[in-house]
Amino acid sequence: MTPANFDFHCHSIVSDGFLPPREVARRAAENGVDLWALTDHDDIGGLVDAGAAADEFGMRFVNGVEISIEWRGVPIHIVGLGFDLADPALTGGLAALRHGRVERARRMGDALAAIGIPGVYEGALCFVTNPSLISRAHFARYLASIGIARDVPGVFQHYLTPGKPGYVDHRWVTLEESITWISGAGGVAVVAHPGRYKMSGADMRRFLDDFKDAGGRGIEVACGSHSPDHVMHFARLARHYEFHASRGSDFHGPDESYVDLGKAPPLPEDLKPVWRLLA
Ligand code: AMP
Ligand code: MN
Ligand code: MN
Ligand code: MN
Repeated sequence: MTPANFDFHCHSIVSDGFLPPREVARRAAENGVDLWALTDHDDIGGLVDAGAAADEFGMRFVNGVEISIEWRGVPIHIVGLGFDLADPALTGGLAALRHGRVERARRMGDALAAIGIPGVYEGALCFVTNPSLISRAHFARYLASIGIARDVPGVFQHYLTPGKPGYVDHRWVTLEESITWISGAGGVAVVAHPGRYKMSGADMRRFLDDFKDAGGRGIEVACGSHSPDHVMHFARLARHYEFHASRGSDFHGPDESYVDLGKAPPLPEDLKPVWRLLA
């Protein structure tokens, strides 16, 4: 059955979203989503609840995750869809990634203390909703709450992006590892929000070559953070690479999202939608 509205990218309190998986499901269904994936950062702990809630609210459901990787030093996100939840390489790999986030967060706290803002790691922990998953979003929410900048985007702009005092380099996993985990667990790997990476056109093509060589099959063409020009541009790249196209809101919560669940732009009609690859 052809879905009327699929959303394959969003977050819950299992990572840096604001709603529990069941409430994300409810809101997706209310917004007309009929095929849904929850894609928390580096954690699949919400998927059992999400799947049950999808059932309850009349949506079809696909397992999802958004994996933090680095490619030639550039932090990139890979969405995995339709994998087996119990696959040990995937679950073990994600556990290691989450562990690395704690060490990174401590270094972020140290870096901010060095410019005269102490206690930020401890402060960020008050905003964490899953004790094993800390992200820059939690730092940003804490720093905004103490008035370091006007709002969360302001905190990112001045403190938490490359070159700014609270940003630290970090070893994520490689592109190849992430795709091996996803494919090995029977899933499909998709490039998340390609319009967000600070990369030249030539580097993007190099990245997509590597992604395809490693077994990646999909790309987000329509997502919350893409302009109409991004949609056209990445639609062209999807055709060129023969990738399947994905669509997702990247919803985090009512007040901290580009668009609401189910509200990403439509996919250009000639593209092969990624749900066709999922049973
Ligand atoms: P991390 O995975 O720890 O590097 O944190 C990245 C997360 O921070 C993203 O998934 C978003 O939720 C959030 N984020 C990144 N950049 C911004 C921004 N400019 N404004 C608001 N939130 C952001
Ligand atoms: Mn996030
Ligand atoms: Mn992302
Ligand atoms: Mn996301």
